[in-house]
Parts: sequence; structure tokens; C-alpha cells
Amino acid sequence: MRATLSLLSYIPLPRFISLPTHLPLRKPPRHRITPSSLSAIGIIAILKFVMEYETVIGLEVHAQLLTRSKMYCRCSTAYASAPPNTHVCPVCLGMPGVLPTINQQAVEFTVMTALALNCTISDYTKFDRKNYPYPDLMKGYQISQYDAPISHDGWLNIEVNGNSRKIGVTRVHLEEDVAKLIHRTPKNEEPYSLVDVNRSGVPLMEVVGEPDLRSPEEARQYLIKLRTILQYLGVSTCNMEEGSFRCDANISIRPMGSADTLAKAEIKNMNSFRAVYLALEHEAKRQRKQADEGKKLPQETRGWVEAKGITVAQRSKEYAHDYRYFPEPDLPPLVFKPEWVEEVRARLPELPEARRDRLMAEYGLSLYDANLITGSKDMADYFEDCLKESKAGPASAKELSNWLLGEVSRIMNANSTDIKGFREKVSPNQLCELIVHAQDVVNITTAKLVLEEMFNTGGSAEDIINRRDLSQISDTQQLEETVLNVINSNAQAVADYKAGKQQSLKFLMGQVMRATGGRANPGLVIELLEKKLEEG
Ligand SMILES: [Zn+2]
Repeated sequence: MRATLSLLSYIPLPRFISLPTHLPLRKPPRHRITPSSLSAIGIIAILKFVMEYETVIGLEVHAQLLTRSKMYCRCSTAYASAPPNTHVCPVCLGMPGVLPTINQQAVEFTVMTALALNCTISDYTKFDRKNYPYPDLMKGYQISQYDAPISHDGWLNIEVNGNSRKIGVTRVHLEEDVAKLIHRTPKNEEPYSLVDVNRSGVPLMEVVGEPDLRSPEEARQYLIKLRTILQYLGVSTCNMEEGSFRCDANISIRPMGSADTLAKAEIKNMNSFRAVYLALEHEAKRQRKQADEGKKLPQETRGWVEAKGITVAQRSKEYAHDYRYFPEPDLPPLVFKPEWVEEVRARLPELPEARRDRLMAEYGLSLYDANLITGSKDMADYFEDCLKESKAGPASAKELSNWLLGEVSRIMNANSTDIKGFREKVSPNQLCELIVHAQDVVNITTAKLVLEEMFNTGGSAEDIINRRDLSQISDTQQLEETVLNVINSNAQAVADYKAGKQQSLKFLMGQVMRATGGRANPGLVIELLEKKLEEG
């Protein structure tokens, strides 16, 4: 199906009912400062009355669920690389007269998530129609949940600057994704839009957070934590760039100490954690400026424009009654048996915080290292697989974590890959083998080069060391010769050392390492240098 739409811009909702007036705004005081009033006493007096605000942020996160079929029909959800409009049927195309059915796996994934977020699972839940006209909404309504969501009243912990904060989760509910619009603007032709219905009806879980976040950094940490939990549960890929994990942010400000916020803005179009952080930072500043200038802040939806680093007004924000919610007559309500909920709870995998605490207890990792390692399930798996699978075994978990958080992370960053990509090239066993060699056969600098080559070629540490003749020189006789040569040709450094300049020893050592192509055993070099300098 190929549909051409002439309606490119947002279609205003029909207003069957009048919008309520905006919430009353508290107008902050205005201060005018003239140069003549800028005496020291004057400044102090003014500072006392300058309004201080705090930022109030609540996030709404949508995550596509990793089910095989769509939310209300049997179409496959594996649409990412499929040709447009090939994963469709009368149900997800929104044909009249068809009947939806509920995807049980999607309900279970949502219950799992809700339990992991410490929510209460509702005894009774139902689906509702959310009505709004938009070209990507095939039926003209979305089957979502309104007043009886699957779960409510949970929380998750975040850590910012070493402080732990409990952030409320209002509810976790289930709905469906919409079709994808592709906008084209050909040269010298009318712009047009295409509709790809493959995404229509993909299960979408919404996690609504309480407005408990007080800074863009807290919002970022909340998102990272939520994503980690969903990844541990295996309910979503949580790829923000690919759109399987999306975030809208409600942000407002309020005078410090007050319970009433000024009108909030909902920010959309943020496609990365960084974008969320930058958009919120920009918006918090913009709202303060508006308030300081005595301008009214309307309740509105704003879009983040990444290229310009600003948010722009898109439309006035809808209220719930604009959507004319009513119960979905084609789907039965669900009643969860407590035994089933408990069974799901018992099947929950180990979650990030529990795994972090276990790694600290079991392997003696520091809180900092354990947090970094368990921050990604794949990284934590790699870490534990190294310890379990390796026949050789690294010297210690601490040494392994140093490698993972140091050199391995550096290689991943430099190659824009993650631990999954790294694992495809270097298996846990291969990394352990290298770590063992780094304690004995090669020095640490060489080991890092070997790891880089292992990642690039997929070869084993031993092969690379042998092929490139990189093994460490620990032969005293062989090194003695080099050490003497270096001492004889660096008279000034030798004199400096003898005059008490310790720094010169490092210089001489560098010269030996250079002469041996970095292969000399550093400990032995120092020993020989000190001995020969003493003798000479
Ligand atoms: Zn379908």
C-alpha cells in the first residue's frame, strides 16, 4: 500500500468541547536594575528578592516489547528490515469490522516490568480507546489504557553524585504503536508523505514516571536505570536511536519551596540520552528566563531541534478529555489471579542492583566498578563468563574488571561498538588467555597492542605474540647488553642520576624499552639499570 498524504502538518483536533482555561499562573516579581541603584547594599537587597526556582521533571517512556507478534493481531513484529507494508493485516490496517485479540506475552512482559519497578499489579485491568485523528493512526483511535492500567505506584532508585534517590513510577500500562510516516520533499515537486503500516500495532509499553526528578542529570540517570532494568528483563531492545525506546519529558519550574509549578511543557523528538539531557537543560533555562521576564508560560508541547540545540513550540498540550477515552468494547477486561502474578514474580531474572551487590560480595569488586560492570547486562555476562568459562582464569576479578573498564572499553569506544560487538571478536576465553600472558609472557604495553590486534583480526593472543615475536625478553644476559649500551651512550642522564635525579632512571629505562621494541621485562630492566649504575 502506498498512500500519499497532502496533510503534512499537524491536524488540529476537532473541538467538540471547549478547552479549559489554563491553570492560574503565579506571576513572579519583576526587578528593574538601573546602574545608579547598583550600590553594594542595593545588590544585596535585590539578591534577597530574586526568585529562585527548582526544576520539576517527569518522564514518560515508551518501549516496544520484544514479542514475536503484534499487540492485537498475528502479524510479525520483525519489521525493521522488511519492505514497507508487508507485515500487515485487516486488524493492524484498521479495517472496519475486524476484531482485535490481546497478546498474552505482551501482558506478561508488562507485568514483569511492573514488578521489577516495585509496582502494584491491578486486580482488574481493561483497555480503552484513545481517539485522535492523525495520518499514522490507522483506526483513528489507539487501543491504550486509561483509568485501569495493568499496574500502578512503583519506584526505582537512581544515583547522582553518590546520592541515592527513590523516583516514583506512576503506572506501567500497555498500548500499541502507530504506523510510520516518511516525509519527502523532492526538488521542484510538491512535498508528499508515505505511510508504512508495518509498525502499526507493535506492542508498546508505557512507563509513566512521577515528577520527582529535579535536574536533567537525574532524568538521564533515571532513563539509563530504566533501560538497564528492561534489558535485564529481556522485554525490549531499548534502542533509542532505532526508536524501540522513546522518551517524552514533562518539565516545569516552581518557586523554591512552593508546591505549585508553573505551566509545564512536554518535550518530544529526543532520540538519545544526550538529547534528553540537552533538551531539558535548555528548557529549564528558557522557562526561568521567561518567568524572570514576567512572561506567561503556556502549557504546550515543544519539539527538540537537535541541530539548533533549542526547543520550539509545536502545539498547545492536549488534556485527557480531548481524547474522549472510552472502554474498548471489542476486548474483555483482564483479571489477574494473585497466584499467576506470584509465579511471574518468581521467574524474574536477577536485576541490576541485586547483581551489583552479588558481584561486590562474591568477587570483592568496588561499588564503582560493580556499578559500571552491571550497568549493561551484556557486560556483566561477559565479566562472569570470563570468570566461569576460562580454563586459564585471570589472576583476579579486580584485574579482569580493570581490563574491561580500561582497555576493552577504550577499544569499544574507538570502534563505536558495544560489548556484544567486542565479544564477537574476542571471546571471554581469549581475553583471559591474554590477561594470563600479560602477567608473564608480554609486558602490559605490548598486551594492549595484542588485544587491539585480537579485536581487529579475531586471532588468539598466543598466535599474535608468536607470529609477531612479541614475547617479553626476560633473559638477563640479553638485557644486560642493551642496558650497558644505553648507559654508555647517555652520559648526561647517568650523571644526573648519580647527582640524585630519580627522573633520569625513568629516561634510561625508556631508552632500553625503545631499543627492545617494548619487549623488555620492565622489572628486570630497572633491576639491571640500578645494578649497573651502582657498579659504574
Ligand atoms: Zn496485523
